[in-house]
Amino acid sequence: MKAFDYIRPASVAEAVAAAARPGAAYLAAGTNLLDLMKGGVTRPDALVDITRLPGLDRIERLADGTTRIGALVRNAALAHDPVIAKRYPALAEALLSGASGQLRNVATTAGNVLQRTRCQYFYDTASACNKRDPGAGCEARGGVTRGHAILGWSQHCIATHPSDFCVPLAALDASVEIAWPAGARSVPLEAFHRLPGDHPERETVLEPGDLIVAVTLPADAEGFAGHSRYLKVRERTSYAFAVVSAAVGLRMEGDRIAEARIALGSVALKPWRAREAEHLLAGAAPTPETFARAAQAALAEATPSGDNAHKIELARRLVVRALTLAAAGTPALVPALPASPFAPLPSAGAPVHA
Ligand code: SF4
Repeated sequence: MKAFDYIRPASVAEAVAAAARPGAAYLAAGTNLLDLMKGGVTRPDALVDITRLPGLDRIERLADGTTRIGALVRNAALAHDPVIAKRYPALAEALLSGASGQLRNVATTAGNVLQRTRCQYFYDTASACNKRDPGAGCEARGGVTRGHAILGWSQHCIATHPSDFCVPLAALDASVEIAWPAGARSVPLEAFHRLPGDHPERETVLEPGDLIVAVTLPADAEGFAGHSRYLKVRERTSYAFAVVSAAVGLRMEGDRIAEARIALGSVALKPWRAREAEHLLAGAAPTPETFARAAQAALAEATPSGDNAHKIELARRLVVRALTLAAAGTPALVPALPASPFAPLPSAGAPVHA
């Protein structure tokens, strides 16, 4: 591994100043970064260790009803927080479906948002990769592409973003709070990750030195708690990234859907919000026909980037399944494992959060 400087700042301001130097990277749990460094995929000159910065490990309720999740809140702590599980059950369900228990105990909120793609050619330094080495080419094109993107991809990169957590965050209009040399700013999560375009090496809107200090959820995100699910299709039951995933929330008024939220995961280089499908559902009755139309709209622009056309139909079916489960009601307890897409559907009127 390449030698690097190790810096342990005492404050956010010190961290931002230290990380603004070229070649610096932030270190939190390191569950992704250290693997990348050991494999020679990324070679920082300096690591700025933020794990001891005070005040970034809190979950707070602000006066306007916003929930503020500190950047260093561990995935397990967040998933098992009873208030989070009650207000944002799809968030807890997504977190519990990610990685392993051991990893969730150390992985952080900001680290989850910033995790890199799992494209196998990106991790193999013998393969050409525009994301790792701009202009080198993309070995995935024409390679093994069963898990690659079906939305938003370009000729230069067909990778996907692997996070489970970011999918319900996108559906619930979360924002990312960033400290930077000039102060602080907030960016909607939906605009935080970049699609590959001509520059797949630019993955987010972060500039050198920018530090994620929190993720926030607006007060109205709680309105979906009673009818909310996260579903994930993967190749084995645990410790696997999604082939496709879906986060869904419905705000019901009587027997009609007043408002719907849908986001898809592992289909693009960012969590994919399905706004057209959401518009179709607003004011509609929660019927199988309506859900099928919404799923069709959610994937209307999807195209295979290789040997992965199956992901389009899989995603359609997952949207229908997630909507059906959400309409039946959020379970009183978030399952330890995410709802199986192959399990029988519950009957309407299942228990929901109070
Ligand atoms: Fe690299 Fe993207 Fe191509 Fe994978 S798909 S090899 S990450 S450029």
